[in-house]
Amino acid sequence: MDDIDVPLIRNEYDIIIIGAGPAGSIAAKEAAKRGASVLMIDRRKELGAPVRCGEGLGMKHVEAMGIKLAPQAISANINGARVIAPDLKHDIVIKTPETKGYVLDRKVFDKDLAKDAGRAGSQIAVKCEAYDLISEGGRIAGVKCIHNGRRRDVRAKIVIAADGAESIMARLAGMKDAVSTLYDTDYGYEYELVNVKLQDGGRDFSDLIEIFFGKEWAPRGYTWIFPKGPDSANVGVGIGGLEKPNAIHYLHKFMLADGVKHRFENAVPVACKGGAIPVGAPVKEFCADGFMVVGTAAHQVDPIHGGGIGLAMNAGRIAGIVAAEGAADNKVDKQTLDRYKKEWYDAEWSKFNKRLMLRKVLEKLSDEDLNAIIGNLSSEDIDKTLGGDFKPVVEKVLLKRPQLLKVLSALLNF
Ligand SMILES: Cc1cc2nc3c(=O)[nH]c(=O)nc-3n(C[C@H](O)[C@H](O)[C@H](O)COP(=O)(O)OP(=O)(O)OC[C@H]3O[C@@H](n4cnc5c(N)ncnc54)[C@H](O)[C@@H]3O)c2cc1C
Repeated sequence: MDDIDVPLIRNEYDIIIIGAGPAGSIAAKEAAKRGASVLMIDRRKELGAPVRCGEGLGMKHVEAMGIKLAPQAISANINGARVIAPDLKHDIVIKTPETKGYVLDRKVFDKDLAKDAGRAGSQIAVKCEAYDLISEGGRIAGVKCIHNGRRRDVRAKIVIAADGAESIMARLAGMKDAVSTLYDTDYGYEYELVNVKLQDGGRDFSDLIEIFFGKEWAPRGYTWIFPKGPDSANVGVGIGGLEKPNAIHYLHKFMLADGVKHRFENAVPVACKGGAIPVGAPVKEFCADGFMVVGTAAHQVDPIHGGGIGLAMNAGRIAGIVAAEGAADNKVDKQTLDRYKKEWYDAEWSKFNKRLMLRKVLEKLSDEDLNAIIGNLSSEDIDKTLGGDFKPVVEKVLLKRPQLLKVLSALLNF
């Protein structure tokens, strides 16, 4: 009976991946390419939709994955970033290889990644929600899911949880820190707007992502304008999880602020998007026996800007390779799978750790400090800071604001 109703799902695979976002699809592709039998499931009816993302992605992440973006997956090409001080008067424009990238159409992008996984040989089940894990002999041995309204138990040598910010799979596997604390979570809300002015004061911002700091509209976070076309943009805010009342309140406050409101006076929303983003350290353990967690589910998200697509894809790539090799050798114990954690740390941790520290310093700065800092730094200074070379910039800031010595000294130890 089952086979007639759900012909695409078998009862057993080498690897099951829960979640067909960027982490899951890249993991599925890499594992299937290496000959593993792979099932990727997602509770969504249509992969990629609804979008819950600013859709910004650095070109370096696309190149690192060897992805060829379809023209439809690119809403705008980005050449730099504009950082605006809380007074809305001072700004810095940074144009470096690091700031080159895209504002994507994630409905197209995510589905294209899933199609690549399917082409590589992975099976995919949409409208298939995992609600529990199967445990056996002390290891994870499969997934309990509801596919097209029917309960199924599907077994696997390895389960990869790629189920995003609200991951429950990692928690079910015993990873207690998989639920991000409120302090380490940002809440985002965003409109996709048409009739937005991407030119202002004789300047053209249509190929820049704009990032506005200021406790008035983005306490413990920032507000963004990411262009989606000549007159449209994702305009959103991310605020710290302990901030009140909520992200929508701050977004509206920003859009009505003197200094920017004229850019939105005729703006009309065509979508609203929201969600949580973990911005703290990654989960402590990435693997258990027969189990791995990747992407935002593992809190692999940039602590400064909350960008998680690039980190998710790289984690998915490493995990997919390690899982396929483990499944082929029938070695699926934690120790074998932990090669994924080691390779992830080798690739990402040095930069990630510096950005965790930078986030903690940034949240201690007042709007007055930020006005003074942004007013005095050059784009080269910002570039160095984001790259983790803090010393020269800290020295420059301290000359103007010696009172920040205590706050900024943490950065000098890196
Ligand atoms: C408001 C906002 C703005 C953001 N802006 C940016 C940005 O501009 N740039 C950037 O890089 N990042 C941004 N992010 C973060 C980014 O969206 C994520 O980090 C990224 O999508 C992570 O990819 P992922 O594959 O780990 O998880 P996701 O993309 O979240 O995919 C998880 C998938 O798992 C599925 N799933 C969940 N539970 C189950 C279940 N039980 N059974 C089956 N399927 C399940 C979901 O349906 C989903 O498809 C933003 C996030 C938010 C909330």
